[in-house]
Amino acid sequence: MKSKETNPENRPGRPVRYTQVKEPDYNQNSINHQTDTLVYAMGGLGEIGKNMYCFEHNDEIIIVDCGVLFPEDDLLGVDYVIPDFTYLVKNQQKIKALIITHGHEDHIGGIPFFLQQIHLKQIYAGGFAKALIEKKLEEHRLSRSCKIVEINSDSRIHTKYFDVGFYNTVHSIPDALGVLINTPNGRIVETGDYKFDMTPIGTESDFQKMAYIGQIGVTLLMDDSTNSGVQGSSISEKKVAATILEQIRKTPGRLIVSTFASNVLRLNQILEAAVACNRKVAVFGRSMENVCEIGKKLGVIKIPDSSFISGNELNTLPANRICIVCTGSQGEPMAALSRIANGTHRFIKIIPGDTVLFSSNPIPGNGESVSAVINQLTRIGANVVVNSPLTSFHTTGHAPVEEQKLMLNLIKPKYFMPVHGEYKMLVQHAATAEMCGVPKERNLICSNGDIVVLRNEECFIANERVQTDAIYVDGNDTTGLSTSVIKDRQILADSGLVAVIVTIDSRYNKILCRPSIVSRGFVYIKENQTLLKEAELVVYDALKKKMQQRTTFGDLKNCIRSSLEPFLFQRTNRNPIVIPVILNQKAAIAQIQARATGKKSSSKVAAAK
Ligand SMILES: [Zn+2]
Ligand SMILES: [Zn+2]
Repeated sequence: MKSKETNPENRPGRPVRYTQVKEPDYNQNSINHQTDTLVYAMGGLGEIGKNMYCFEHNDEIIIVDCGVLFPEDDLLGVDYVIPDFTYLVKNQQKIKALIITHGHEDHIGGIPFFLQQIHLKQIYAGGFAKALIEKKLEEHRLSRSCKIVEINSDSRIHTKYFDVGFYNTVHSIPDALGVLINTPNGRIVETGDYKFDMTPIGTESDFQKMAYIGQIGVTLLMDDSTNSGVQGSSISEKKVAATILEQIRKTPGRLIVSTFASNVLRLNQILEAAVACNRKVAVFGRSMENVCEIGKKLGVIKIPDSSFISGNELNTLPANRICIVCTGSQGEPMAALSRIANGTHRFIKIIPGDTVLFSSNPIPGNGESVSAVINQLTRIGANVVVNSPLTSFHTTGHAPVEEQKLMLNLIKPKYFMPVHGEYKMLVQHAATAEMCGVPKERNLICSNGDIVVLRNEECFIANERVQTDAIYVDGNDTTGLSTSVIKDRQILADSGLVAVIVTIDSRYNKILCRPSIVSRGFVYIKENQTLLKEAELVVYDALKKKMQQRTTFGDLKNCIRSSLEPFLFQRTNRNPIVIPVILNQKAAIAQIQARATGKKSSSKVAAAK
């Protein structure tokens, strides 16, 4: 393990921790790798996404979840962010199980990238997650590399040191499981994503089981923090179903509903409501079509096949007999709803009288793109209906504060570790835990890579860390090489590019043509002629000085960069990418080439970049 921070206690915002719990033999928070049980996150702490929690004892590691994080707009061209698997690659012979709590992308999206680097025989997942993972592996041509073993709340997984059990939770996707991990040093509960819904659609929460687990004693509770800042309780999914039915009933014309593709229970409610109102349904968007197909196969979607119509059949029915369900509730530019709004969808053109219903809320960060789609839909004549506290067209999948309190009261943990949340959410969740009786010093607010040590049913944070990082994935490349490309893109976007072109004669170490500067996205050229002329002079002077002695092309390029970059930063406060282009005199090139063929090397220096 790599120790990145020698004293993690010194980091700001870190509450005073284990030092206050009196145990003399802890030996300055150092780990006994033979007998201690270690808990650490490769992702999921300080962020919403790329959840991956690891449990290590001696020569065994079990992993819960393997997710991706979807980047914000400022990560140019990045498709996904995944955890850095380096530590697990090094220790892959220790990995005994990968367990999946449920099928959301922030829990399963990293699996294809994980399997590209790590050989794993099987993954354990609930029925719906299993179907989604299998589809994903098929798309990545990885189906044969790993077997997905279906688990449910009665399953048990035994290894030499771990004994893992499960209980049902309610979440915005079917077959969500909470995980109980019995370790040689105490019991751990990892809640997965959950909420409490007394009238859910689908499976109910295993209240009795959770209470029983609480009674036999839990050393560490790792709890979903997404809604730590939301007071009260969540609206029941049944209530949402009722309001959607009412809306469909009173909609006069064609109805287009957009929701999260993975919420197949909601999707089924919408489809059933549409059929009850004598409408035929059409489903658009790749992820929605996939989920619909899986839902039909697993019996979650129950409406008859005859109720579905294809895109071509839309024009054969009157408007009030049609309900379209599509992706794009987050304003994603390539999704069906955005294409409908832009008038580029193959089958659907908005006609006045169409109603568009958002059975969703914008995820933080998506507000602007959702708003743009709503504006565009309204502009072309649609009546747009969105969720609000008064309408209840959507409900969260995560426990707000009152439901988090219920979890804390059921499990009654000795130590508490908020997970699955941004830093402020973890802190808010810890405050809730304190209110529910977990002493402040037993609240473990951690970062990715921090190691929580379990020893004889006590916990502390070790002075070692596991290497963690965010790996940017551009396309399917998981090597992290694209990370530098992405950094360049960010510099280009922030500060632009400056190219310096200079012609020399390498035979006489002479500048033939003074440097000239071409820039893109850096400054407005017309207003900055003087600045660029001065910059050219700065480079010219530096080069003249440099070329008084013998130099190489590399030296000249460095000379251009080192003279120009500080000058530009001082004058503009920007750090553009500087690209030196050195052109050599024709006769000089011939001389170099002749020399090179003599030496059997072939360096192209005609226009060394
Ligand atoms: Zn989830
Ligand atoms: Zn999640």
